[in-house]
Amino acid sequence: MKTFEIAVIGGGLAGMIAAVALGRGGRNVALIAPPAPRQDRRTTALMDQSIRFLDRLTLWDKLKPAAAPLATMRIIDGTNRLLRAPTTTFRSAEVGLEAFGYNFPNKALMEVLEAAVSAEGNITRFTAFAAAIEVSADIVAITLADGETLAAEFAIGADGRKSMLRETVGIDTRNWSYPQTAMVLNFAHSLPHENISTEFHTENGPFTQVPLPGNRSSLVWVQNPSDAQARSEMSLAALSNVVEERMQSLLGKVTVEEGVQIWPLSGMMAHRSGKGRVALIGEAAHVFPPIGAQGLNLSLRDVMALSDILCGRPELPVPADAGNQFDRKRRADIMTRTASVDVLNRSLLSDFLPVQVMRAAGLHILAALPPLRNLVMREGIEPGGGLRDIPAAIRDRLRRKKA
Ligand SMILES: Cc1cc2nc3c(=O)[nH]c(=O)nc-3n(C[C@H](O)[C@H](O)[C@H](O)COP(=O)(O)OP(=O)(O)OC[C@H]3O[C@@H](n4cnc5c(N)ncnc54)[C@H](O)[C@@H]3O)c2cc1C
Repeated sequence: MKTFEIAVIGGGLAGMIAAVALGRGGRNVALIAPPAPRQDRRTTALMDQSIRFLDRLTLWDKLKPAAAPLATMRIIDGTNRLLRAPTTTFRSAEVGLEAFGYNFPNKALMEVLEAAVSAEGNITRFTAFAAAIEVSADIVAITLADGETLAAEFAIGADGRKSMLRETVGIDTRNWSYPQTAMVLNFAHSLPHENISTEFHTENGPFTQVPLPGNRSSLVWVQNPSDAQARSEMSLAALSNVVEERMQSLLGKVTVEEGVQIWPLSGMMAHRSGKGRVALIGEAAHVFPPIGAQGLNLSLRDVMALSDILCGRPELPVPADAGNQFDRKRRADIMTRTASVDVLNRSLLSDFLPVQVMRAAGLHILAALPPLRNLVMREGIEPGGGLRDIPAAIRDRLRRKKA
């Protein structure tokens, strides 16, 4: 039986990035990654902190040509409610950045990762599914669907929302669903997007356009399930007209591309992210609706935390309590992000007037107060980043007053 320091189970984006990060961090990694079952036509927006991490892994230069910068984010209240929020615009230049983040096709990132995995001497790839897993105090033993067996000092479950590793170690989950479906598509447009992402808030959920390179954008349109079903059955020409009308023709003529997908909205959170010789990352640990570009950004912070725990002293064996350390390190971030996406989504759906007042007032305040907008932008890019800057900002202000 072959033995490794770390086994990563699952070759979605989270698992592939984890394998590259830990292999580069000096660990001997088994990557159990069957080929993806279907063509992924989604795009992903990664924020500045995640882009810097990809850069440290030397992946960013290769991905950048396929990515469009998100320099401006604009929120437009597209509801017909009595209390409507003002249009709020966030510009990355206000926080001294060229872009808040970048948007690219998942396929482009997967190609860069496939090449990085093949070139990494510390990674051995297995393409069969894990069929059975046994976790003991000293080792994790894995039997693959083709009968091969391997063992590792530590196992990482990147095996998606139905994670076998999570079930094997008996970590329970909390699951919930929303009365909404996300329609996901890419489209070409006749006017340039100028690196602006526009989010229309509607009574059924956000309608979010995100730039791609050239005169193209991606769209995540959250709507009620029967509307989404009906619209997904329209001809591309008819759907293009509907999208253009919803975009208020801001980008001129719209041409929706082949490959429209619909995703019922749901959420899941594992009760813990790890214990003993096991850690769960990505959708094995947390799933939320595709609102506010959070999922993979959170998964990358999982991988950063694992790299700190597992690669600080790669010459030493993996600690037997690394999974517990990981759980402690990740808990607050996962809970905060899950709750904020949930609140944002439910505040749009709610017809309850006080909730509408709070949402509209919140955006009014953000539109009017640059320092607060600045703080929110920094928090969006790097959780903790904005709050960390507060003491320094207060000190600066006091110093200026004294002078
Ligand atoms: C419509 C949509 C839009 C999104 N947009 C954004 C965005 O803009 N920004 C952002 O940050 N996030 C976004 N996300 C979230 C993001 O796509 C996911 O968080 C990300 O893809 C990570 O997924 P994963 O690798 O954890 O899971 P998955 O992609 O589900 O991968 C799990 C992998 O594990 C494999 N597997 C399962 N069981 C086994 C087994 N027994 N043995 C071996 N392998 C196994 C599967 O084959 C699969 O390849 C979006 C999500 C959706 C649905």
